[in-house]
Amino acid sequence: MRILLVEDEPDAARMLAKGLREQTYAVDIASDGEAGEYRASVNEYDLIILDLMLPRKNGFAVCREIRAAGSCVPILMLTARDAVQDRIAGLDTGADDYLTKPFEFHELLARMRALLRRGQALRSEIIEIADLVVDTRKRIVKRNNRPIEMTAKEYALIEYFARRAGEVIGRADISEHVWDESFDPFSNVIEVYVQRLRRKLDAGHALKLIRTRRGEGYVLTAGSEEAGE
Ligand code: CA
Repeated sequence: MRILLVEDEPDAARMLAKGLREQTYAVDIASDGEAGEYRASVNEYDLIILDLMLPRKNGFAVCREIRAAGSCVPILMLTARDAVQDRIAGLDTGADDYLTKPFEFHELLARMRALLRRGQALRSEIIEIADLVVDTRKRIVKRNNRPIEMTAKEYALIEYFARRAGEVIGRADISEHVWDESFDPFSNVIEVYVQRLRRKLDAGHALKLIRTRRGEGYVLTAGSEEAGE
C-alpha cells in the first residue's frame, strides 16, 4: 500500500513516515500543498494523509482539487485545531475522515486500515488462498498453518498480491503500490523480491501460488489453469 503524506513540519513528517514504513507502507512525503497536489496527480496512491495547515495551498484546497480531478483516493485529513468548522469543511471538501493533532499513532493506523478496507467492498482483513493465509491486521503470513517470517517489504508485496489474487499484476502496478518514488524502474528489485517470496512461500509445496505470465506480470492463484515456474 502506497501512501502520500502531505505534512509541512519536517520532524513530524519524518517521524510519521518512519512509523508507517515500519508498518510496511510505502510512503512519499510532500512538504507543501502544491507539491502534495502534484504528487497526487502523477502517482496512484492507495491513501493520502493530508495536513490542513500547509504552506502554498491549504489542505481544503488540495482536497477539493484532488476530487475535482476525479480521484476517489481515500483522504485522511489532519487538523491541528479542534474546531468543529474545520472538520465539517474538511469532510465537505471531500476528505473521508479526519484526525485531530496530536493523535495516537495506533489510532491513525486503525483509521487508515478502515479507509483502505472501504475501497475493497468490505473484504475481510484475513485473506485466504488455498492454504496461504495473509492476516492484514496482524501482518502475519502462514502457509499450511506455518508462520513464514518476512521482511517489511516482502510482506508488503505478498499483501498486495493477496489483495488482488487471481488478477495479473504487472511490474508497473507493483512499483506504484509497493515501492515509493525512490524506486528505480531500471532495477531488477521486483524480480529479486518475487524470487524471495517464491522461496519462502512456494518452495517445498506441490501447489505453486505465485505464477509468472510472460510479458504481463504475476498472478497469485491457487487455480490450476497454468503451470507455475
Ligand atoms: Ca502543518
